[in-house]
Amino acid sequence: MTHLLSKSKYIRGLQCDRALWLDVHNPRLAKYTREQMQRFDRGREFEYAFKDTFPDGIDISAELKRNVDAYPELTAQYLDGIHTPSPLWGTPPNLGGELVLFEAGFLYDDVLVLADVVHKNADGTLEVYEVKSGTALSETYKRDAALQHYVISHCREVHNFSIVHARYAGVSPATGYADVPSAETIAGETPAHPGFAIVDLTEELAAQHDEIARNIAAMKDILRHGEPATPTGQHCLSPYACPYQHYCQQGVRQLALFG
Ligand code: SF4
Repeated sequence: MTHLLSKSKYIRGLQCDRALWLDVHNPRLAKYTREQMQRFDRGREFEYAFKDTFPDGIDISAELKRNVDAYPELTAQYLDGIHTPSPLWGTPPNLGGELVLFEAGFLYDDVLVLADVVHKNADGTLEVYEVKSGTALSETYKRDAALQHYVISHCREVHNFSIVHARYAGVSPATGYADVPSAETIAGETPAHPGFAIVDLTEELAAQHDEIARNIAAMKDILRHGEPATPTGQHCLSPYACPYQHYCQQGVRQLALFG
């Protein structure tokens, strides 16, 4: 089944209805700066470093690549123990029903989310980890996690949902992120995941389901209509620099020239 919204589109939609519309209907207009691309790369490196602390993890994306709409079905087959993996991807370890998946896909309410790390407990409940490379919990991280909690918990029982972020600022040979302790987050580190702050937000995220459902309904409504004529403003820069600024500002310039 194909999806309408993803985590990134939802976050975009919270910032601007026009940016959401462009992300869905005309994403080729997006232009990212080199600095933004480097930030994405750093985020991915940090995510890989955390995934390396789960040596038995099975990577759904390695099997399905860019065919993201197939992720939920394969994820369900792994979680239900009915998938026979290709020899190419190895045999899932027999851990008494436990399993770790990377990029596990879940679809609900036309929203597809891919979870960085999902640990299935022996009783079938899930522990979900969303990995962020910043050194502090931001509201944007929480909004992102809240959407994932909403979708995943409508598919499976979520035992707990945590955001993992950098315990340290800077770079070290050990984890890639270990120079200066971030005092606020030291308590979240566990022996199994040194260098990472793990913050359990399960209750806080579960309390936001009604708001998430309303946001999704509003975004679907935006996508049913034509491109919104939202004017540019401060929202174009926060919480992220919008990649459609050149496009929207072009329209403003044309109005100024011919107005
Ligand atoms: S540049 Fe501003 S108005 Fe245009 S899509 Fe981005 S956030 Fe919206």
